[in-house]
Amino acid sequence: MNRLDLPADLPADLQRRLAPPLDQARILDTLVHNLEGMAYRCLPDAHWTMLFVSHGCQALTGYPPEALTQGGAITWEDITLPEDRAPVRALVARATTAGQRFEAQYRITRRNGEVCWVLERGVFVVDEGGRAVMEGYIQDITERVRTQQALEEAERRYRQIFEHASQGMFQSSREGHYLAANQALASMYGYADADELIANLSDIGHRLYVDESRRQEFCHRMELYGTVSQFESEVYRRDGTRIWISESARVVRSADGGFGYYEGTVQDITQRRNHQAQLERQANHDQLTGLPRRHLLADRLHQAMRRADRSAEQLALVFIDLDNFKYINDTLGHAAGDQLLVEVARRLSRSVRSSDTVARQGGDEFVLLLNDLPGVPALISQLERLVEVIGRPLALQGRTLQVGASLGVALYPQDGADADTLIKHADVAMYAAKHRGKNNFQFFTPELNRVASERMHLEAAMRVSLERGEFCAHFQAKVDERGHVVGIEALARWQHPTLGAISPDRFIPIAEESGLILSLTEAITRQACAEALRWPRAQGRDIALAVNLSPKLFSDPQLVDKVWGWLRDAGMPTHRVELEITESVFLEDPQRALRTLRAFKALGCRLAMDDFGTGYSSLSYLRHFPLDTIKVDRSLVTDLETQVDAAMIARAVVSLGKSLGKTVVAEGVEHPSQWAFLRSHGCDEFQGYLFAKPMAGEALRQLLHDTGGQLSGASVASSSHA
Ligand code: C2E
Ligand code: CA
Ligand code: CA
Repeated sequence: MNRLDLPADLPADLQRRLAPPLDQARILDTLVHNLEGMAYRCLPDAHWTMLFVSHGCQALTGYPPEALTQGGAITWEDITLPEDRAPVRALVARATTAGQRFEAQYRITRRNGEVCWVLERGVFVVDEGGRAVMEGYIQDITERVRTQQALEEAERRYRQIFEHASQGMFQSSREGHYLAANQALASMYGYADADELIANLSDIGHRLYVDESRRQEFCHRMELYGTVSQFESEVYRRDGTRIWISESARVVRSADGGFGYYEGTVQDITQRRNHQAQLERQANHDQLTGLPRRHLLADRLHQAMRRADRSAEQLALVFIDLDNFKYINDTLGHAAGDQLLVEVARRLSRSVRSSDTVARQGGDEFVLLLNDLPGVPALISQLERLVEVIGRPLALQGRTLQVGASLGVALYPQDGADADTLIKHADVAMYAAKHRGKNNFQFFTPELNRVASERMHLEAAMRVSLERGEFCAHFQAKVDERGHVVGIEALARWQHPTLGAISPDRFIPIAEESGLILSLTEAITRQACAEALRWPRAQGRDIALAVNLSPKLFSDPQLVDKVWGWLRDAGMPTHRVELEITESVFLEDPQRALRTLRAFKALGCRLAMDDFGTGYSSLSYLRHFPLDTIKVDRSLVTDLETQVDAAMIARAVVSLGKSLGKTVVAEGVEHPSQWAFLRSHGCDEFQGYLFAKPMAGEALRQLLHDTGGQLSGASVASSSHA
């Protein structure tokens, strides 16, 4: 009966009972003969005599089943590779004694002579006739064994490479711990071996990289691309020394595709970097002088221009060509020429600030890039100094020589908006300087040449006038709230024989930038002291003498000694002298300024802060520096009645000065109403045309005599002259 013909509504248990019984023997037979591999039954004798083998025998051994079974041509012992026979037998014996199943992996020789690996699983059973036999199953595992061996070989080779590679190798966690490292890496980082490295260098991010952000960058790229290549960083070795490394690494994923670890190689590239840096230096710097060359200058010029754009500052590009270099080179030889260039390079480098650039353009041409110009007047002075410095005598091969230089100047941005134009214009200006007779400088802008030549004219004239004693001191009185003269300020005057009267506002800056200010101050102070000793006492007191000291003088470490010398020579008591300084003395080097001021105080001089209320007017100066007096600037006084701010500031400055215990002086008082206002707000002393204009010494003495030192506003204004 066919099972499919059974009615569908038959109960399940009935269905089961009506189905034909399973032919177990047939199923087994099918399985046994169709499985890949060979099922067997054999005797545990010296030949492993086969009682039965399945059809798989042919595929496994190359022999038909009949060849192997009892009485056949070949036994299993024959087939087993000779060197594997004893081990297999021993293994089977062990299992038998223990009453266990066995599993053996060994080699057989196939009919065609090929050796292959098999896996045998078997068990002892007692057969139908009560005999002890072995039954089991033998499978060809050659493929698997080969793969395994290849894997092991690969692993072994990899280990070998890893451990013996000359490159550093590592595996690390994302958190910055080493999981593995090789000897090369350990040595590179200054550790005895990999274990020491792994144990000691636990936090790669913080402890290895000089710039910690490099590790972040490394991880970031790994996250993004899964790999980095030739990633260069500077790292610390164990002893704290630094090396440069290049890393190539990738993310190794775990079996489930998640993050596993980083793996990579490390190369020490310190030498290459040094070499590179050296090459770069050589390429960018002139060999002879060590100065930057043309293209490095171009680089810096671009940067400087961008900076200047941002900060609205000016730049100067100065072309310098040595005069008569060719002549020296030709007559004294190249060695002498080289020596000259080196010396000029040295002098130029010393004459500029470290933020400026001195470059060699080629031959006997140099270029200066001056940043952040403090203004045209200061630039002019610097250029004059440069011409002078280059022109100083120098010893060459036992001779003393002098070379001049022609300088051409272009300013950024006005003389050219881009580097090329600027360079071209500086060059043009340099040729103009050559044309003008060498050893001078020329601006590209004609107007600046006019300013420069006028300044140089004035400077030259000043030198002469100083020698001839053509500068003289005039004097302006200061009065107290009742109009009594309490002090007198010396002011420089210059009456030039041909140029006429030149105002201090013009010549003081030139004196400051040319260095003539010291001689000028000396001349004025000496004259003023001589004059002051002839002033009558007023109100039973000596009239104080005020002298202006330029901030430029404070860079002279001997300033105090020099001033002290002038006073002593004149026989002027120091307590009668007040020195007027301006806030800018504190700008450059406040500590030095403080030391100088204390030294003046120690001499017995009084100190006044001039022009207060116009500049930085920092309270801290007033508080921390030993000042006795502050002088409220003329501009505040002038605008008192017209501008609310000025009145407020003036009032604030006065009360501030008073609260700090200073004497407060108002300058430029011209109207009685200003005087009244300032007096009512507590100002101590007053100076201005209302009481007396600056005048010659003799005129002032006359005035003091005529008025008995009592200068009340209107009555005296007419008797003075500027
Ligand atoms: P300063 O030290 O503030 O001198 C006061 C200036 O104001 C003087 O100008 C004086 O003539 C002027 N002045 C005084 N009272 C009045 C007034 O009521 N109205 C007006 N409109 N002006 C008045 P001066 O003499 O031209 O000097 C100008 C600046 O030159 C001085 O300002 C000072 O900074 C500098 N100076 C003058 N002589 C010397 C000196 O011997 N050494 C130094 N380092 N600087 C000096
Ligand atoms: Ca003054
Ligand atoms: Ca002043």
